[in-house]
Amino acid sequence: MNKKTITDIDIKGKRVIVRVDFNVPLDEKLNITDDSRIRGALSTIQYLIKNGAKVILMSHLGRPEGKVKDEMRLTPVAKRLGELLGKEVKKADDCVGDDIAKAVSAMEPSDVLLLENLRFHKEETMNDPGFARQLASYAEIFVNDAFGTCHRAHASTEGITKYLPSVAGFLVSKEIEYFEKATRNPDKPYVAILGGAKVSDKIEVITSLMEKVDAILIGGAMAYTFLKSEGIDIGNSKLEPDKIGLAKEILSKARSKNVRILLPNDHVISDKIDAGASTEIVEHNIPEGKIGLDIGPKTVKKFEEILKDAKTIIWNGPVGFFELKPFSKGTEELARFLADSNATTIIGGGDTAAAIYELNLNTRMSHISTGGGASLEYLEGKILPGIAALNDK
Ligand code: AMP
Repeated sequence: MNKKTITDIDIKGKRVIVRVDFNVPLDEKLNITDDSRIRGALSTIQYLIKNGAKVILMSHLGRPEGKVKDEMRLTPVAKRLGELLGKEVKKADDCVGDDIAKAVSAMEPSDVLLLENLRFHKEETMNDPGFARQLASYAEIFVNDAFGTCHRAHASTEGITKYLPSVAGFLVSKEIEYFEKATRNPDKPYVAILGGAKVSDKIEVITSLMEKVDAILIGGAMAYTFLKSEGIDIGNSKLEPDKIGLAKEILSKARSKNVRILLPNDHVISDKIDAGASTEIVEHNIPEGKIGLDIGPKTVKKFEEILKDAKTIIWNGPVGFFELKPFSKGTEELARFLADSNATTIIGGGDTAAAIYELNLNTRMSHISTGGGASLEYLEGKILPGIAALNDK
């Protein structure tokens, strides 16, 4: 990896400002319902504490759109982080201003201060240089450990790097390591599994992966637009009518490049999307009125036949409506197959990661990305501004 990380610089006694991703889900009583994002940042924070840095943390939470929203304050996060670290975490009432400068100047080595939600200021997402400079003014070093926002050029991810030496934290450096290898010199055969709701979200990634992979396995709702373009009946399954032509083009381009694109040839169907729905399995055409909601057992077998020889597997998007039990089997079986595989397995963030955690298979994947959008953009071959801006080794 050609980007500097926190182990490449001297941090002892220094004021270090760290962009973390503490965008955790909260219930109505503002209890954190899943603290895995806070846990994910612990190794970087603990390393900084152990090495005597003054640790200033900053994050966004939700979409307050430039206004102070009490229900999006980081107070519950500070409390939970304090419990996990077993030490006091001070929480500021804002992320910029004189009070922050004062709080920072009172810090001792190994102290931890959490700034308030960055997105209470619209300047954050506007990547306002003045705002970025203010954030930078509190510290001597910037650490980016929030991969999920690296595809956005915001003040706390990109703007701030103009004013401080800037390095990757442990989370971000692991992401870079896996995605660089997958995009530059993956061990072959290299197979991609793509699913999820929309073809339109995945067009760029399919086009870019076609240059690199040996096969693309398509499942999920997006498969139906492809099947439709092949003249197959899809009943009431999700369809993006304006993308049929594009789907056809992608399939013929893949054929001309000798990249195998595999579509489902059997389906779990139902007449409604419901936890108690009754299901059937059909091959090829889906009858009128029925919805395709998961890949069928023959498709699972067909996909596994390709996956068994793979040396690198990336997976982005569930292959069925996995949130509901009747339609979760395809996603579950592929997840178990990957867990047992010797290939390097890289799971794109978002729903696919959630499915893997739910199945308790997280420790059996090589890498589960902490960024849905960011991981897709990496695979699309785009430059992520938050990463590009870090100092080279
Ligand atoms: P994405 O955000 O694009 O990765 O899409 C994930 C969503 O696609 C999940 O909520 C899945 O339940 C949904 N999904 C997957 N397969 C289907 C399907 N066959 N029909 C409708 N929705 C689906």
